[in-house]
Amino acid sequence: MTQVINHGGGVHSIKVPIPDNPLGHTLVHLLDTDRGPVLIDTGWDDPEAWDTLTAGLASVGVGIADIHGVVITHHHPDHHGLSGQVREASGAWIAMHAADTAIVRRTRESEPGTWLAYLAAKLTTVGAPEDHIAPLLAAREKGGRMRTLPGLRAAVPDREIVPGELLDLAGRTLRAIWTPGHTPGHVCLHLEEDHPASLPGRGRLFSGDHLLPGISPHVGLYEDPDDATAATDPLGDYLDSLERIGRLGVAEVLPAHQYAFADAAGRVQELLDHHEERLTGLLALLAEPLTPWQLAERMEWNRPWEQIPYGSRNIAVSEAESHLRRLVKLGRAEALAGSDPVTYVAV
Ligand SMILES: [Zn+2]
Ligand SMILES: [Zn+2]
Repeated sequence: MTQVINHGGGVHSIKVPIPDNPLGHTLVHLLDTDRGPVLIDTGWDDPEAWDTLTAGLASVGVGIADIHGVVITHHHPDHHGLSGQVREASGAWIAMHAADTAIVRRTRESEPGTWLAYLAAKLTTVGAPEDHIAPLLAAREKGGRMRTLPGLRAAVPDREIVPGELLDLAGRTLRAIWTPGHTPGHVCLHLEEDHPASLPGRGRLFSGDHLLPGISPHVGLYEDPDDATAATDPLGDYLDSLERIGRLGVAEVLPAHQYAFADAAGRVQELLDHHEERLTGLLALLAEPLTPWQLAERMEWNRPWEQIPYGSRNIAVSEAESHLRRLVKLGRAEALAGSDPVTYVAV
């Protein structure tokens, strides 16, 4: 069952399943170094995922205790979920960008109910209907955290990934490239070595969720209960970091989902075009004043709004907000003064 791909030049990928998720699996990458094998991402914290990871490693002669280090592209549980268990079994270090490490710490330390209160307040501000907010308030009354909220036990990293610098890996040249957008501390990792099959271009890129061959990654707001008014522009960050990745001229992209592919610049352009089209479409919708919630209801998703499950609606409205923030920054939309819940209109 275990699917391991040998990409050549001391790089393998292991398909680690994500339970009950349409994405299917995370591609955990294994990079040989002179001080031992290093993992790039680890997979979802789940027994079947763990068994698949260890079986995949064993099939290429690596025991879990041999792992020397873990490099994490971003804090999401399908990437960072098993990191703690890998560290326990091997003594490996875990490296992550400081902005995502801050999220891991915050999630671990937050009081029960803080997140629920934040989410309920935020959804009220964006115009969510009462029957959508009620379950959050009820869960908060019970003093609980939602069972589905992952990342509560996520491992605190012990190394920082510094943008632009080479990681301390014996015998390998792996440079961190900060690509905020999908998360504030997302990094891509550029293996600045000749392609083993001599594909034209400059090395290979471990792209995490930033650049995927057939999926446009979710870009919402950088959720921070302690700083609800942060004037960040995640979609602007994402588009900027996409352009930066496109200019690298890599020979091959090794993403964290789906499959490896060659034409990075072409895929970057597709995504830039996609977002431009989407922003233009939203401007048309904003001919009439809309709350972020109303905008989310009218946007195009992979299924009709009525069929989008509860949790995914929260993600969708966050995506609508990141687009609104981009349009406001571009001077193409504005919030109507005094509107409550906040209402936006094209200018
Ligand atoms: Zn992600
Ligand atoms: Zn992912």
